[in-house]
Amino acid sequence: MPTVAIVGRPNVGKSTLFNRLVGKKLALVDDRPGVTRDRREGDVAFGGLHFRVIDTAGLEEADDDTLTGRMRMQTEAAILAADVVLFVIDARAGVLPADQSFAELTRRAGCPVILIANKAEGGAGMSGAYEAFSLGLGDPIPFSAEHGEGLGELHNALIEALPKPDSDEEDDEDAPGGRALRVAIVGRPNAGKSTLINTMLGEERLLVGPEAGITRDSISLDWEWRGRRIKLHDTAGMRRRARIDDKLEKLAVSDGLRAVRFAEVVVMLLDATIPFEKQDLTIVDLVESEGRALVIGLNKWDLVADQPGLLKQLREDCTRLLPQVRGVAVVPLSGLAGQGVDKLMQAVMSAADVWDRRVSTSRINDWLGDALSRNPPPAVSGRRIKIRYATQVKSRPPHFALFGNQLDALPKSYTRYLVNALREAFDLPGTPIRLSLRTSQ
Ligand code: GDP
Repeated sequence: MPTVAIVGRPNVGKSTLFNRLVGKKLALVDDRPGVTRDRREGDVAFGGLHFRVIDTAGLEEADDDTLTGRMRMQTEAAILAADVVLFVIDARAGVLPADQSFAELTRRAGCPVILIANKAEGGAGMSGAYEAFSLGLGDPIPFSAEHGEGLGELHNALIEALPKPDSDEEDDEDAPGGRALRVAIVGRPNAGKSTLINTMLGEERLLVGPEAGITRDSISLDWEWRGRRIKLHDTAGMRRRARIDDKLEKLAVSDGLRAVRFAEVVVMLLDATIPFEKQDLTIVDLVESEGRALVIGLNKWDLVADQPGLLKQLREDCTRLLPQVRGVAVVPLSGLAGQGVDKLMQAVMSAADVWDRRVSTSRINDWLGDALSRNPPPAVSGRRIKIRYATQVKSRPPHFALFGNQLDALPKSYTRYLVNALREAFDLPGTPIRLSLRTSQ
């Protein structure tokens, strides 16, 4: 579901807009465990549009002197998480310097911004709405959150701005058993992908080897594992469609890319008798850059003589070769004999959970205090780098933001330390972790 953030200086009417969109005055705070308490989130169904809305107003009630700073960080975090920003001004008050500075943050967001000139009921505040052009955020929508005016125009603007829904995903949401988890099995030719998928599906639905003349539109196969709906990427379907003059190597890579983009969890299948070639590392890089969850399957385990020895060695290889997905699950199996498939699926489910995890802002900041005192950031040209605040801005994969001074000067080794420490503290093995650094003046 896409995310919409409501941004603007205190008192412009953000909470009223939030309530108007979410449609109820109470129960505004999201009660899912782990969701941050210091910003309000709610699900919105608005004339056929579905999205999640984040309100940054919660901090206005806090009355300490760091309010502006914290408000700013909270706003930046919300903007990072957003697909669309609703930027609200008070049309009656006109454009104030504080609006300018929030607008500055918003312009840097790189996502669509809808400018709302609020408190304009009955045509009030027109001059303020005109002034709002000067913010450089496009045409303002004259609006009244209190009276519900301007909703039609806002709806039109949202249709334009929101990412187009993936039709596949839309039907899924309401299906019994919930949304299907998308899983792709990738690996070099002959690693045993088709054999494994056949075993999972329990029938000969995939043909092993190329076959001319078969075309299918769907790229996924529906499956169920212990009551969980799963869409498996149709690896062999890709191969069947491939043109004959495609080189096998090139095909495997573009095929891999498509599979990785399709999936939420990627199973990289290795032939345990010839593990870790360059192409496998390319696939892991792809999984990392596309931000997917990863599980490694060691196939053809039935052919391995010294199983404990090889497993130990391959787990060490993973730690050394794949630092970007530290702690990734490594599961021995035989697709042909149908052994280890259950263990593999358990690992897939647990990787999906980790990938989806949300950590509360208070836990992250408790952790941050410890992590900084255990290993303080270095000084750069005599000045200490200060990290003040951290929050998780997104999941799938986990994405954290750090706020402070001179963070652009943080050495890579230090951000690596923080990512590893986050991974450990919040039990996030095997998933790519994103870290954004935000320096405040
Ligand atoms: P793909 O190219 O990755 O889809 O690989 P295939 O599924 O076509 O399998 C390639 C070859 O490996 C076939 O000859 C399979 O029979 C064989 N194979 C696949 N899985 C296993 C396994 O678990 N054990 C053994 N011994 N052979 C396997």
